[in-house]
Amino acid sequence: MKEARHHMAAVDDVIQRALAAPYTMGVPRLPSSGVTIVTCMDTRMDVRRIFNLGDGEVHVIRNAGGYATPDVLRSLTISQRKIGTREILVCHHTDCGMSGHNDAEFRSMVAAETGELPPWDVEGYADEHDAVANSVALIRACVYIPFRDHVRGVLYDVKTGQLDVVC
Ligand SMILES: [Zn+2]
Repeated sequence: MKEARHHMAAVDDVIQRALAAPYTMGVPRLPSSGVTIVTCMDTRMDVRRIFNLGDGEVHVIRNAGGYATPDVLRSLTISQRKIGTREILVCHHTDCGMSGHNDAEFRSMVAAETGELPPWDVEGYADEHDAVANSVALIRACVYIPFRDHVRGVLYDVKTGQLDVVC
């Protein structure tokens, strides 16, 4: 029996919604386009709508900023070697929470508060275009990823919906 609660946590509500209406997409595991999109976790980065995609067309890897962190490179390696994708699109966006992020400052703030220095670091960028180009460069240089001929980078404007093709 469930414990009685005065206020259901939002996360519990999310679970309840899935329990109430089970859903499966019914597509193969391999994305039909062979493309993996690396993007930000931002609520506005709904890549299906932004790129006008249907069910099962792409892999999507998301994190804070959409940066090519070691874990993104790991996931891209899995996406290509184990699932079979072949091309990569990095999509960052305007008004990102990571914009102007100062990694050293952020890490020392967390360390001061918790007594532990986080093992990960996430470099911030003053320029949004540089951030896209840098992530694309990191992916293109990652030898573990077998297919790197088609790696592109774009910047999405959350206000206008326009894409700026960076590289
Ligand atoms: Zn963002």
